[in-house]
Amino acid sequence: MSVVIIGGGHGGFQVAASLRQDGYAGQVTLISAEAALPYQRPPLSKAYLKDGIADALHLRPASFYARNGITLRLGTRIARIDRAAAAVITDQGEAIAYDHLVLATGARNARPPVPGLDLPGVLGLRDLDDAQRLRGAMSTARHAAIIGGGFIGLEFGAVARGAGLGATVIEAAPRLMARALSPQMSGRFATLHRDMGTELCLGRLAVEVLEAEGRAAGVRLDDGTRVHADLVLLAAGVVPNTELAQEAGLAVANGIVVDKHLRSSDPAIFALGDCATFPCRRMGAPLRLESVQAATDQARAIARTIMGQPAPYDALPWFWSDQGPHKLQIAGACLPSDAAVPVGDNIVIRFRDCHMTGVETINAPGVHMAARKLLATGLGPTQADAAAAGYDLRALAAERKATV
Ligand SMILES: Cc1cc2nc3c(=O)[nH]c(=O)nc-3n(C[C@H](O)[C@H](O)[C@H](O)COP(=O)(O)OP(=O)(O)OC[C@H]3O[C@@H](n4cnc5c(N)ncnc54)[C@H](O)[C@@H]3O)c2cc1C
Repeated sequence: MSVVIIGGGHGGFQVAASLRQDGYAGQVTLISAEAALPYQRPPLSKAYLKDGIADALHLRPASFYARNGITLRLGTRIARIDRAAAAVITDQGEAIAYDHLVLATGARNARPPVPGLDLPGVLGLRDLDDAQRLRGAMSTARHAAIIGGGFIGLEFGAVARGAGLGATVIEAAPRLMARALSPQMSGRFATLHRDMGTELCLGRLAVEVLEAEGRAAGVRLDDGTRVHADLVLLAAGVVPNTELAQEAGLAVANGIVVDKHLRSSDPAIFALGDCATFPCRRMGAPLRLESVQAATDQARAIARTIMGQPAPYDALPWFWSDQGPHKLQIAGACLPSDAAVPVGDNIVIRFRDCHMTGVETINAPGVHMAARKLLATGLGPTQADAAAAGYDLRALAAERKATV
C-alpha cells in the first residue's frame, strides 16, 4: 500500500508524520514543489523578518524523514493526476503510483487587476523565498505601502514599523480583518495599529502601482490619493491551489470539495488545509479554513481514516495572529452576522441564536483557553450573562469543569 501526499506544507507534513505515528506500514511519499525542508509558515511574517534564521523554521530535521521511512521529494512539482492509472505525474513526466492520494497544495496570493503589480519593488509573502526577498527589501526601504488589511498585511505592517519603516495599509473594506473579526475587534485593532504609527486607508481601493525609474514608487487609490512608498506588499488574500483537482475532474467550489472525512469526490483522494472546503457543522455551511491548526487537525483525521478508523473532522477551529506586541487569538467558527458582545477593550464574545459561537481576545491567553474548553463542550454563557460588567469566561470554565 502507498500514500502519496502532494504539498509539503503544514498539512502535508502532518499527514506523513501522523501515518508513521499511527503505525502505517506502507510507503509514504511527500512531494513538495519547494526546495526547502518542510517549514513553519507563520513566522515568515513575524520572527523571520526580524531575525532571518531560516533553520529555526524547519518542522523536523532531514534525519526525521529518513528515520521514519518517509520519501521526501523536494523541488518536485506535480503536473497532473492520472486517476485511471492511480498515479501522479511530475512536471518531468515521472509517474508515481498511489493507493491513497492526499492533496495538500495550499493556496497562492491573489492578484487583483491592479496595473503595475509586476514592477520591481512589489512583493508578496507566501513562502520562504518571498520572505527572504522581503527581508532584503526592508533593509533599504523607507516606506511600505501594504495592499490588504488582513492578517498578513497587518503583521507585516507591525514588523515594518518596528524596523523603523513608515507603513500605510490600504484596505478595500471599511474595517480591518473584516472577513474574520467582529466590527468591535476590527475597530480595536485599527486603534492599536494607528498607535504603532501605521497609517490606515480604509474603504479605499488600490487602483495603480506608481512607477519611478522602472520601480514601484507607491500606490494610487480610488479617490486619487497617492501613497508614496519604495516597497509595496501585496497581501490581498489567497486563491486555493485547486487546478490539479479540477483538471482531474474532482468537485471544486472555493476549494476542493471534501466530505466530513475529508474525502474528495474520488474516495481514493483526500484534500485538506488551505486548498479544501469541508462541511462545517459549527457554521452549518461549507468552509475553507486558512490556519495551521485546521491543516494539522485535518491531517491527523486523514491519517486515522487511512488507518481504517474513520473519524469525522470536527475539531474546534482556533487561530492566532501576532501584530507587534498584540496577540490576537480567535476560537470558534463565526458567521459575519453573529452578535458581538464586548467584554472590556480586549475581549469580544460572539453569539448565534443566543449560543456562544466564538471568542476573540487580545493578549489574553487564559481567556482564549477557557473559551476553547467552553466552545468544545457547548457549555458557554448566555448572551445576557456575557453582557454583564466585568464578565469572566475563565471563572465559568473553572465552574463548568467542577460540575461536568
Ligand atoms: C506569511 C504567513 C503567515 C501566516 N501566519 C499564520 C498564523 O499566525 N496562524 C495561523 O494559524 N496560520 C497562519 N498562516 C496560514 C497557514 O500558514 C496556512 O493556513 C497553512 O500553511 C496551510 O497549510 P497547507 O498544508 O494547507 O498549505 P501550505 O502550508 O501552504 O503548503 C502547501 C504546499 O504545497 C506545495 N504545492 C502546491 N502545488 C504543488 C504541486 N503541484 N506539486 C508539489 N507541491 C505543490 C506548495 O509549494 C506548498 O509548499 C500564515 C500564512 C502565511 C503565508
